[in-house]
Amino acid sequence: MKYLDALIIGAGFSGLYQLHCLRDKLKLNTLVVEEGKDIGGTWYWNTYPGARCDSESFTYGFTFSEKIFKNWTWKERYPKQNVILKYLKYFSNELKLKKNIVFNEKVISAKYIEKNNLWKVQTNNKKKYYTKYLICAVGSLSSINLPKIKGINQFKGQLHHSGRWPRKKNKL
Ligand SMILES: Cc1cc2nc3c(=O)[nH]c(=O)nc-3n(C[C@H](O)[C@H](O)[C@H](O)COP(=O)(O)OP(=O)(O)OC[C@H]3O[C@@H](n4cnc5c(N)ncnc54)[C@H](O)[C@@H]3O)c2cc1C
Repeated sequence: MKYLDALIIGAGFSGLYQLHCLRDKLKLNTLVVEEGKDIGGTWYWNTYPGARCDSESFTYGFTFSEKIFKNWTWKERYPKQNVILKYLKYFSNELKLKKNIVFNEKVISAKYIEKNNLWKVQTNNKKKYYTKYLICAVGSLSSINLPKIKGINQFKGQLHHSGRWPRKKNKL
C-alpha cells in the first residue's frame, strides 16, 4: 500500500509530460503506472512493419525545454515508430523520468473515497495505491480491439493485431 500525491496511468507522450510537470514543477510525490514493459505508449505497442507518424516530425515533440529541443534532430519528415520511441527514451532520460514509473502493472480499478478525499487505485499485481490526484493518460490507440469475425476461433493460421505485433517479426 502506498500513499501518493498523484498517480498517472500510462507512460506515453501524455503521461511522461504529466510526470515532469507534477514531479518537477509542482514537487508532488508522483508515480506512473504502466502496463507495458517500457515507456512509449502508442509507440511501444505499435511495432508492425511500416508503423510511422503522419504528422510532420518537427510538430511531434516537446518544445518547453530549449536544451531537449535543440539536442534532438529528426532525420525524416515522417519518422518511423522506432525513431519516435528513441526520441521518447531520450526525453525520459534527460528528465530522469523512469525512476518514478512502475512497468508491467495494469490499473484494474480506481475508486474515489469521498470521506478521505483520496482515490484508491488497484492493479493486476494486487498493489494498492492511495492518491489525491489521479491522471488517466491512457490514450486511445494503445488498447486493441479484436474484430468479432465469425469462425475466427477455427482459423488455423497465425493471427496478429497491428497493435500487438510479435516483437521478433518487426524488422522492416
Ligand atoms: C500508428 C499510429 C500513428 C499515429 N500517428 C500520429 C500522428 O502522426 N500524429 C499524432 O498527433 N498522433 C498520432 N497517433 C496518435 C498517438 O496515439 C498520439 O499522438 C500519442 O502518442 C498518444 O499518447 P498518449 O500518452 O496520450 O497515449 P498512449 O501513447 O496511447 O499511451 C497510453 C499508455 O497507457 C497505458 N495504459 C492504458 N491503460 C492502462 C492501465 N489500465 N494500466 C496501466 N497502463 C495503462 C498503455 O499501455 C499506454 O502505454 C498515432 C497512433 C498510431 C497508433
